[in-house]
Amino acid sequence: MQDQAFSWRDGAYRATPLCAPPSELPAGSALVRPRELGICASDLLHIAEQPAAGAVFGHEWQGVIERVAADVESRCAGEAVTSSAFLGCGNCQACLRGCTNHCRKASVLGAGSLGAARSWLVLPAAQLQPIPRVAAAGAVLLEPASVAVEAGGVVQRLAGDGPVAVVGGGPIGLLTACWLHERGRLLTVFEPQPFRRGLAERLGLEARDSVAVEGHPGDFAAVVDCSSAYAGGPGGWQLCLRLVRRGGSLVAVAKYPKGRTVARTELARAGVCVAWLRGAGLAALRGAADWGAQLAAYRPVLADPALPLADLDEALRRARLPARHGKQVLLVPQADTSLGSTGQAG
Ligand SMILES: [Zn+2]
Ligand SMILES: [Zn+2]
Repeated sequence: MQDQAFSWRDGAYRATPLCAPPSELPAGSALVRPRELGICASDLLHIAEQPAAGAVFGHEWQGVIERVAADVESRCAGEAVTSSAFLGCGNCQACLRGCTNHCRKASVLGAGSLGAARSWLVLPAAQLQPIPRVAAAGAVLLEPASVAVEAGGVVQRLAGDGPVAVVGGGPIGLLTACWLHERGRLLTVFEPQPFRRGLAERLGLEARDSVAVEGHPGDFAAVVDCSSAYAGGPGGWQLCLRLVRRGGSLVAVAKYPKGRTVARTELARAGVCVAWLRGAGLAALRGAADWGAQLAAYRPVLADPALPLADLDEALRRARLPARHGKQVLLVPQADTSLGSTGQAG
């Protein structure tokens, strides 16, 4: 099978042929072959806002290093790896702290010409996170889990030990809730879809219908908004304001479509401190890798069985039906592995 990339053309992601990987890799880089991709609400929002022509799909991925540049010692061929969606410059203050999501020069996977929905990818070796063996089965969840680690860390810093509400029971909301629950936080998930509340319960979490919000005015020290336009229904952050106590914290993980914003005056009136997340960087991804075996156990609950990458359109259609489907995962065809190993020998 010919190497290919799925890029945006005429209103859809379409397969386009890809040349063979370069025989000589740039200094500091690694050639990786993605094996699985995840679809999330950020992708759906990106599509709703029309990607640029040629934009390649995919920011949640796990794969294998085929070979590394001659000067790379930190990583090696055959290693299972993933990366943050934010590939930092590696030199700025943010990157040195592992916060590649705050690097001003970061390239963002799946938002432009660089995406993981392709047979091969050349990435800076320093931006790759090894996948622990115990996490292998759940490795495609590492990127969304890193967002949960980032959000959970903010809650722990801001909200003492009071009860926490997570609004939106999509994969990010549920992973965030699991991370906090495992750390002993008293926690409730609010989610309008019965299907997703069922997933929460299978994960051992307490889940309530979003209409129950009215029964909990100001009950929570922190509220994590994981309701995007697609995950938790419209106006998620307004629900959050009803739940959070005066002097409490709102952690905004959800992304809002252009034109829909959080009214700062309303937040100020409610006396609520807001922390805005911008995805998660390499440090949070390391935290997610430490989650290991747990992620492997969560995968069958959170994700539907994987579809082949050629079914990207169908997977996107299912991702838009949160009342019936879990996270969508795509399998990247591996027919090129023998070609790849030839490349490695050469
Ligand atoms: Zn994502
Ligand atoms: Zn940087």
